[in-house]
Amino acid sequence: MIFYGTKGVHLKSERISGVKCNHCEQQTSHTISIYGKYFYIYWIPIFPLSKKGFSECDNCKVTLEPKQMSEQLRLKYDNIKRETKTPITHWAGLAIIVLIIAYAFYASGKHDKDVVTFIENPQKGDVVEYKPNDYYSTLKVASVTNDSVFLLRNKYEIQRQSKLYKIDKTKNYSESPYGVSRTEYKELFDKKEFLDVDR
Ligand SMILES: [Zn+2]
Repeated sequence: MIFYGTKGVHLKSERISGVKCNHCEQQTSHTISIYGKYFYIYWIPIFPLSKKGFSECDNCKVTLEPKQMSEQLRLKYDNIKRETKTPITHWAGLAIIVLIIAYAFYASGKHDKDVVTFIENPQKGDVVEYKPNDYYSTLKVASVTNDSVFLLRNKYEIQRQSKLYKIDKTKNYSESPYGVSRTEYKELFDKKEFLDVDR
């Protein structure tokens, strides 16, 4: 269950003087309070919603919503509301989400670039992801010579490519490597028989 909703927090109170109160009819001071509402998920503010507020007569204590205010009071209220800045923290969640997405894009772009280099210059320890049948498995580069790449088969297979890390364990690999030429190695990626490589 996800806990989400909206919450209003006090942002600012300001006292203004010399405005007539509609209620007690005194020329008096009023306290104007502004609240900022934000949307939250699990107590983390995601993004701000509206700003709202009210006035309180310092003489008779009547509180008024903006639409109940006299024109003079409303003008002061609107000014204070406009000057009240929404705290940047009310954007925290959205900022985090944007950062995560940006990082995911960066990481996947970087991986795609890395893969090109990995295929061109294989190194001992590289792990190739492939799909020999209905299941996925890995091959580990055991050694590389000027013209060949030697690979160790993983004895295990798994249903999902994203779970391959679970079977990528040293003890799962066969002892005896088989060799392919470096050209063949590259072609296997071109033909999509080899899907990905991690280093
Ligand atoms: Zn009053």
